[in-house]
Amino acid sequence: MSNCCVQSVPPDSSYETLDQPVVDWMARLTAGLNRSIPNKNQTMGDLEREIFQQTQGLERKLLEEASQKKADQSPPVCPVCGHKLSRLSHGHERTFQSRFGPITIRRSRGWCKRCKAWRFPADYALGLEEAGSASPSVQEMAALMASKMPVAEASRVIEHLTGVKLPPATLDREARRQGKRAERKRKELDEQMSTIQGSQQCVPVEEEPFSLIIEIDAWNIRERDNWGKSQQQRAKGIEPERWHWVYGGTCFRLNQRQQTDTGRSIILSRGTVMTRGGVDALRQQLYAESLRHGLGKAAEVLVVADGAMWIWNLVNDRFGIATQQLDFYHASQHLWAVAHALHPNDALAAHQWVKPLLKKLKAGRSVQVIGELKAVTKRLRSKRRATAQSELEYFQSHRNRLDYHVARKRGQPLGSGAIESTCRQYQCRFKRPGQFWTRSGDEALMCLETFWRNGRWHLLFPHIADPSKN
Ligand SMILES: [Zn+2]
Repeated sequence: MSNCCVQSVPPDSSYETLDQPVVDWMARLTAGLNRSIPNKNQTMGDLEREIFQQTQGLERKLLEEASQKKADQSPPVCPVCGHKLSRLSHGHERTFQSRFGPITIRRSRGWCKRCKAWRFPADYALGLEEAGSASPSVQEMAALMASKMPVAEASRVIEHLTGVKLPPATLDREARRQGKRAERKRKELDEQMSTIQGSQQCVPVEEEPFSLIIEIDAWNIRERDNWGKSQQQRAKGIEPERWHWVYGGTCFRLNQRQQTDTGRSIILSRGTVMTRGGVDALRQQLYAESLRHGLGKAAEVLVVADGAMWIWNLVNDRFGIATQQLDFYHASQHLWAVAHALHPNDALAAHQWVKPLLKKLKAGRSVQVIGELKAVTKRLRSKRRATAQSELEYFQSHRNRLDYHVARKRGQPLGSGAIESTCRQYQCRFKRPGQFWTRSGDEALMCLETFWRNGRWHLLFPHIADPSKN
């Protein structure tokens, strides 16, 4: 109702409570806008820009004053141990880049005898205890943008949209610092999952029995650790490695996988992990993430992945109760390899040979498929035989992971498309042409991206008012 709107505007008298400078400033802004309005060439965009520019100075001033008041109110006690500070001195200036421009705050400093360290209690009260010159909002900007796009571009986009000037080197440093903080937070959250506290992180579970789906995959990233030392390393007999594996996993409850009107599969709620920290890091992170999504309460756990042996070793080790399933697309590629070995120059014949076998595979008649592969292997000679033999061994080693008919009956995914597309999305940021990373840099930014994806951004930046908006 329009009534509500009317009531939400304060009556004129309430302006009396505002400081006189604010009232004056508002009058000036209104007068300026009134002069602009008759200008025919000005669109709403021009008015938006004008108001934005005119208000930023005021916002900056308000923030500076409010922060200074908060700083002045911080008691002279150590923010770490609570001990009373001695050797107090005042007026230590520190300048921050805030979302309204640079602001300077004067703080008190004191010596904590217990910690044997100088302390600035105001920095803790304002959430600025870490080094660096960015306000919490600007810290968040740097973290979010650098995890989405290269820093040079991010720097330009931030300035264009918000007016905040963050040169690429500053932005990069700040984003990495936030990424390191995210890594520490991830560790803390994951460790909580093995304690009673972990239940607070769990996604609420419905009453009826549910299946938990876990998908695992990997991709590689290019790094330049020991850059410029390649010759030195080679002289020592070490071939410098530039490409390294990034391991990823995702988990979701089957009932969270739904179809759009156009028939595309979407997953409403899921957890993702992505790490350059090796298989062990993946195992720990994926286990914690699966617990959040109901591992332990699930009626059935299904792991879908390609044929890489490290994956199945990890699954046997950490998800022993899970049903294992080979990604159908990978399995079909291996059948196609035999088809091409059989009919190297006849695409139609290859197709005719493979089609009924793919149908059998999907119907769960894997024993017949393996039987056919055995028969084919005997018929072939030399190199083609070797191909068929290795594919036969592939299917034999995965024979317990081919129950596609069961998955179809239960409405479970046949392939690991969900994690494959997730890996692809990370690669759009982390595998651009000409890009080189350092091991610490890529893990930090990937960790930020994962917090964002998992809807846990507010755990890193608690000033976000509404956690549902991430
Ligand atoms: Zn202390």
